[in-house]
Amino acid sequence: MSSQRVAEYCCYCGHTLELKQIPGDEHPRDWCRQCKITHYQNPTIMVAAFLYCQDKLLWTQRGIEPFRGKWAFPAGYVECGESLQHAAARELLEETRIRVNPDMLIPMSINSVLPVNQVYMVFRLPCDTELEAETTEETLEWGWYSRVEAPWHVMAHPESRVLVEQVYTAIESEQFFIRIGQFDTHGNRHKSYLLK
Ligand SMILES: [Zn+2]
Repeated sequence: MSSQRVAEYCCYCGHTLELKQIPGDEHPRDWCRQCKITHYQNPTIMVAAFLYCQDKLLWTQRGIEPFRGKWAFPAGYVECGESLQHAAARELLEETRIRVNPDMLIPMSINSVLPVNQVYMVFRLPCDTELEAETTEETLEWGWYSRVEAPWHVMAHPESRVLVEQVYTAIESEQFFIRIGQFDTHGNRHKSYLLK
């Protein structure tokens, strides 16, 4: 996977990159002969925030492409210099104007999506009330939905339905878990560890 070329040219000098086998390294790396720099390619990390109040989850309707008009959860890429939990809280703020303390976010799911070299980290946050969100440039609409009210048929990422169903089961039963999984050519495999 890590020998996939995502850049052809050196971002510092513009010279064509070549693949170089570094002694002791399992994978060939992109290397700039001019700068004598190895350009490592690593997975990007996405974070999501699942806010819940009793048996309802906060869903958002995407206001931007891809999947504009489809429903999802506040999520986005982690910036450099930012912790995972701060990234999740920032995305929540940007998409819904809801401000939460990043330290209150609880890890719930880690999924490695190998075909696109991404890692998805999902946090949950229990809420005492159904917090008021706002529509934003990134969010057309929002809503707190129970399992039967949820917009399943217009999900931006129907492949995450299994996880979202699992989250509903957790909040309905108040029996939470930490889940770790990977998506690869064999499909999505995951394992859940129930929290006592
Ligand atoms: Zn260079």
